Amino acid sequence: MKNTKSSSRFADDAPADPPADPPADPPLPAPTAPIQRQRARILIVDDTPVNIQILAQALTKEYDIAVATGGAAALELLRQPDKPDLILLDIMMPEMDGHEVCRRIKKDPATWDIPIIFLTAKGTVEDQQTGFNLGAVDYITKPIEIPVVLARVSVHIRLKRKSDQLEKLAMLDGLTDIANRRALDEMLPRECLRAARDGVPLAVLMIDIDHFKSFNDHYGHGVGDECLRRVAQSIEAVLQRPGDFVARYGGEEFCVILPNCDSAGALQVAENLRSAVAALDIPHAYSNVARQVTISIGISARQVTGQEICPPVIQQEADAALYRAKSEGRNRVVVREEGA
Ligand code: GH3
Ligand code: MG
Ligand code: MG
Repeated sequence: MKNTKSSSRFADDAPADPPADPPADPPLPAPTAPIQRQRARILIVDDTPVNIQILAQALTKEYDIAVATGGAAALELLRQPDKPDLILLDIMMPEMDGHEVCRRIKKDPATWDIPIIFLTAKGTVEDQQTGFNLGAVDYITKPIEIPVVLARVSVHIRLKRKSDQLEKLAMLDGLTDIANRRALDEMLPRECLRAARDGVPLAVLMIDIDHFKSFNDHYGHGVGDECLRRVAQSIEAVLQRPGDFVARYGGEEFCVILPNCDSAGALQVAENLRSAVAALDIPHAYSNVARQVTISIGISARQVTGQEICPPVIQQEADAALYRAKSEGRNRVVVREEGA
């Protein structure tokens, strides 16, 4: 028989003795992830409408096109959530020239990774060097040859897609397909900042599967992995608001961020999460808490200040509340007490 002694980091009461006849592995269906595809989007910036027209006509068959006839208008468009995958940028424009537009795009964390191709009549070696030094990925001189523009655009769109994919993968947990610790570490300080700025409360929930070591030890790692996937999915399914966020924090622990949510709201969500996981009804004959897999949740929900971004104290508070949930018997939600 495998060792059932718990090495939990939480205050401990040992899991129940195993029954004489271990039950069969619970059947756990595999989750499916939808694949999304969409046309790439190109922003054309040029102060000469006929130039825009020629380019748009050539590109519109394959790409979605947005246009701006000046730098300010382009930067305004880039503030919208639907960012382009590539920018074709003229240099000589009145008011704000292409170099300045490029500088501003590269300085802004929301836009710096959008590739820029300068498309310009300024064709000397120095001009081109300046363009590349400002962060452009390519440089096309006018008069343009449409097939060359199409070919270069296609190369850079492909590269952008690849780098987007890699960035997305770097933020995803490979087992459960939800956000990973790295994504959480980026998200939480941002949400703290936003909550502090907007003067609204922020809730953080730390979630841990109860007696998961004995689950793994008895049902096997493969079934343990499938259990993690299903728990992750059910947490995702409970979270309703667009800003709500869940990440796998590590092992069998998850962290949920609920923006603009007070402790009453967070408690409600946490109870829904607890019920949803219990309702999965994944048998756990080696838990002394229930007959199926359960979770414990610690909550911290409060106003945050601009100073406490790093380290995110609110997460430590939620973790302390989780610790109490464990020591008070597991399969429960504990809200951090004021001043605790
Ligand atoms: P507690 O109720 O106090 O949380 O006890 P516990 O047994 O859940 O906690 P402990 O931290 O001792 O055990 C966590 C276990 O989670 C250890 C390991 O077997 C399991 N685990 C961690 N990561 C993975 C994983 O990626 N896949 C699987 N199958 N199991 C994992
Ligand atoms: Mg656990
Ligand atoms: Mg744990």
